[in-house]
Amino acid sequence: MSATAHAVVYKGPETFSLETLPLPALGSGDLLIEVLLCGVDGSELHMYRGEFPWLNEVAPVIFGDEILGRVSAIGDAASEKRGLKVGDRVVVESRWPCDGCRTCAAGQYYLCETRGNVFLGYGTMPSGEPPHLWGGYATHTFVPESALVYKVPDALPDTTALIACSPLANGLRWAGLAGAAPGAHVAVIGPGTQGLACALAARCLGAKVTVIGLASDAERLEMAASFGADATLAIEPGEDLATTVARVAASSGPVDGVIETAGAGSAKELAVRLLRPLGVMVNVSVPSPAAQPVDWMALMQKEITIVNPLSHPHTVERAFTVAAGLLADGTDIGSWITHTFPLEEAAEAIALASYQRAERPVKVALKPAS
Ligand SMILES: [Zn+2]
Repeated sequence: MSATAHAVVYKGPETFSLETLPLPALGSGDLLIEVLLCGVDGSELHMYRGEFPWLNEVAPVIFGDEILGRVSAIGDAASEKRGLKVGDRVVVESRWPCDGCRTCAAGQYYLCETRGNVFLGYGTMPSGEPPHLWGGYATHTFVPESALVYKVPDALPDTTALIACSPLANGLRWAGLAGAAPGAHVAVIGPGTQGLACALAARCLGAKVTVIGLASDAERLEMAASFGADATLAIEPGEDLATTVARVAASSGPVDGVIETAGAGSAKELAVRLLRPLGVMVNVSVPSPAAQPVDWMALMQKEITIVNPLSHPHTVERAFTVAAGLLADGTDIGSWITHTFPLEEAAEAIALASYQRAERPVKVALKPAS
């Protein structure tokens, strides 16, 4: 094993530096993984552009929180406790529980109060000091004793496991919150990777599913139809919300739950207007622009519940099981990874993933160790 790692280090707004870093010394409870695939998220564009002051303050930072790799070194205690050995494929969850703050005790370790900053985890931790390797945009990632690691089932290809460990895990949790179950109708706004994963998860949970996008989303709406979405709908340029609501009602009937993954103010308003009384809006997108008006009266008049889930605590293993079942039935979510890049092209990968290029990918990933 080489004694150094290579990493794309975020130094500040729009500044990446490809650096060579020493591999960390491992304690008995630690392990090191060689990163095979790291998901690139469109929202990382906001990080790269320097739009989060807190991130600029903690930089240098190694991005990347969807991490699949192979164990390259492991301490004795970690090996015994985790049942892992060198060579095993694993995914590492981006955050992990502390010893028992209120939110971790409640199961939502993505909001750990002990660490005091909801953004602290893989992809956002300061990397200026050893062990440095706190992100997936690197050939290696350090895994401390407290982190959550899941062995990848042999049946799952790398690509399938990567989509399962984050987008599908999110989708299963969020579709559940939307009330996805037999007899329910769930609409998903925005057929990006996360929207597609929500739609697929809602189908797996037995709901009737409508996926709503724009005319430019035609390919991804076709994908949604191919894995069993009951209806897909492309909003025409200039179409008003009332027309869209009427089109959904005409094709699939009243909507019990909406998962809003797009982020535009019009998309959030559409979500509220689509819902029948007592409906649930699952709000998971970064709003763009950041401040958007809310029609409180519209929410009261239908007694709508809005939930704002963050990520996927305790869901990765269920996602692996669902992904394996889908694979056995002929649906490989790994095929959603349409573009892969080497580390040195990380900025281009982010640009593509955030639709800054003419090409519209489904999911973009880095292959750091290749
Ligand atoms: Zn905690």
